[in-house]
Amino acid sequence: MTRHLVDLASVGAEMILEWVSRARVLRDMPRSEREKICAGREVVHLFLEPSTRTRVSFEIAAHRLGARVIDFDTEASSLQKGESLYDTVRTIEAMGTDALVIRHGENHAPNELAKRTRGAVINAGDGTRAHPTQGLLDLLTLLDEFGDLAGRKIAIVGDVKHSRVAGSDLVAFTSAGAEVVLVAPPELRREDVPPGVTFEEELDPLLPTLDAIVMLRIQRERLDAELALDTEAFVARYQLSEARLAMIPAHGIVMHPGPMNRGVEIVDAVADGPRSRILDQVGRGVAVRMAVLEWSLGGAR
Ligand code: ASP
Repeated sequence: MTRHLVDLASVGAEMILEWVSRARVLRDMPRSEREKICAGREVVHLFLEPSTRTRVSFEIAAHRLGARVIDFDTEASSLQKGESLYDTVRTIEAMGTDALVIRHGENHAPNELAKRTRGAVINAGDGTRAHPTQGLLDLLTLLDEFGDLAGRKIAIVGDVKHSRVAGSDLVAFTSAGAEVVLVAPPELRREDVPPGVTFEEELDPLLPTLDAIVMLRIQRERLDAELALDTEAFVARYQLSEARLAMIPAHGIVMHPGPMNRGVEIVDAVADGPRSRILDQVGRGVAVRMAVLEWSLGGAR
């Protein structure tokens, strides 16, 4: 059976929690032992949208398991000559590779490929829909902080409509029993929200009730042409300033998937302050991606 990961909603809570606990085992494993896990396997990276963290993190994760990464240069490829994504992937697969890590601007692009390819497809972010490994690493960050999430309340704040991170975080957090509140102005709400997840328009009254807050950047590249978002009004209402952070209980933490737009959704002092877990999130990305790659590749060859 080919093991694809296209989104968290289709895998279920049990699998989500299993990956997170496997990530913890893998991150503590001696290097020499870990490098045997996927030795001889080949993973192709196909990133059709920019990426810093996810791309490097998948690459490091594969190397730590002993797998090789072939980074497909989309700019210099026949995609530019009009070859379809499907034909491109089939061509790469014909060379005998094992898995494809794909980032794509269109919703469902990884799902469509997964239906038609031989090797495993791992979604590294599709459009506004899902970014499953980000959901997993954010969950691991929260579980490392709090032990478990029962009775914890987490707000995801900002452009939740266009954020695939929001799409995956809310599935990951609710799978572990957290209460999730999406905070956004009406024009930035999203529709694919599971029951139990609520919306709030105002952030300030919520702050004293939170255990964690996930700040999101405005996805300017995805804003509908007709939506003229007033950045000043957004900042006044939602920016995580030091004053707002002071309203969150002392144990509460701050997260952000990156890239940050400093001075818009978050200020420097908060992003770089003692309650920020933003760089810890990045570190955990490698661990969860090792867990997913191990599962998907199914061991050494
Ligand atoms: N890096 C994340 C993503 O690719 C978040 C973002 O771009 O805002 O979805």
